[in-house]
Amino acid sequence: MVVRRPVAETGVTYASDPALGRAVSSWQAWAVDADTRFRGSSGGVLTAISGWLVESGRATTVVGAAGDAAQPRRTVSIELGKGADFKQQSGSRYAPVSMASHESALGSDSVVVGKPCEASALSQLMSSRGQMDSPILLSFFCAGVPSQQATERLLTELGIPHAAPLRTLRYRGHGWPGNFYAESVEGAKASASYDESWGKQLGPSMQWRCKVCPDGVGESADIVAGDYWKTDAKGYPVFTDSSGVSALIARTKRGHEIIVAAIQSGVIEAEPLELSHISNIQPYQVERRATLWARLLGRRLAGWKVPSYTGFGLFAQSLQNPVRALRYVYGSFRRSRLQSPRD
Ligand SMILES: Cc1cc2nc3c(=O)[nH]c(=O)nc-3n(C[C@H](O)[C@H](O)[C@H](O)COP(=O)(O)OP(=O)(O)OC[C@H]3O[C@@H](n4cnc5c(N)ncnc54)[C@H](O)[C@@H]3O)c2cc1C
Repeated sequence: MVVRRPVAETGVTYASDPALGRAVSSWQAWAVDADTRFRGSSGGVLTAISGWLVESGRATTVVGAAGDAAQPRRTVSIELGKGADFKQQSGSRYAPVSMASHESALGSDSVVVGKPCEASALSQLMSSRGQMDSPILLSFFCAGVPSQQATERLLTELGIPHAAPLRTLRYRGHGWPGNFYAESVEGAKASASYDESWGKQLGPSMQWRCKVCPDGVGESADIVAGDYWKTDAKGYPVFTDSSGVSALIARTKRGHEIIVAAIQSGVIEAEPLELSHISNIQPYQVERRATLWARLLGRRLAGWKVPSYTGFGLFAQSLQNPVRALRYVYGSFRRSRLQSPRD
């Protein structure tokens, strides 16, 4: 299967960025409801927009992710309809879960919030079936999915034993970025900063497939959100806690109309933002795409099969810094030679 970059809509004018792709419009934004903003991963905009789409009758249901009510160590997909507490799906869950396989994920009256790979899979599936009336696809910038074992290891490290039943587990949110936080049924509490949890335990456990993803920025979605981090004097993102702000990109005409209507309805507050300001505070997304062609070549030279991508301009991006590209070819070749290729 080839992963294809979505084609541009006819008659639409786009801004474009090599790392972030096409945008009908781009914004910094946050939920107007203070609790939605507080509980959200960054500005709570995905929760605010998806809930409003259902409450206003533009959609009938939202498919999102949440901690399993019976076993909060696990993440599950949930479906929420009119009158539901949409904040159940607030926040990032740094663990495996599938939204795309949910039975309502292909419904034309659904909103699906999923990872960029899920938005891409759903839109390629619908186009292969000739389904024209697609669900509204909301997504978020994604560095990759950590393994479930990383959550278990982190809990154990923080003093919550493997078998202890939990009352709650969240990965971030309740502030921006907010702490990893778990509470056992017996009342033990554990907490770790974003740097400690994502940076040291969860992020490093990410599967290889995510490291060679060409689209961590949700090009197949109608709307995609990311962290619009503040930066220090040298331009590096800082993770000191503050009120959350999302970068928001409309990928389609429909996505743009939804954002404008959500602003006019008082659901989100937003100000226009240039794409270059977003790519400046997303160095990982920029670097992963710019070096992907070279890393895939190194792996192929070492005898491995690699995924097929088309339309992302990966070769052209690697040529922008040929010395770096050669370094990445060699590094990927060397690491891949240490593993044994499978058919
Ligand atoms: C695996 C992962 C990797 C991420 N990598 C980046 C990154 O590289 N750069 C960056 O800026 N931000 C990253 N984020 C954070 C994400 O971009 C922010 O959550 C985004 O700004 C949305 O914030 P929000 O406050 O609007 O969303 P919220 O209103 O908090 O809503 C979050 C939505 O995401 C859904 N969701 C949560 N976890 C998952 C999951 N595992 N799979 C599918 N859907 C899920 C929820 O159902 C909910 O609808 C990542 C998040 C995840 C889960």
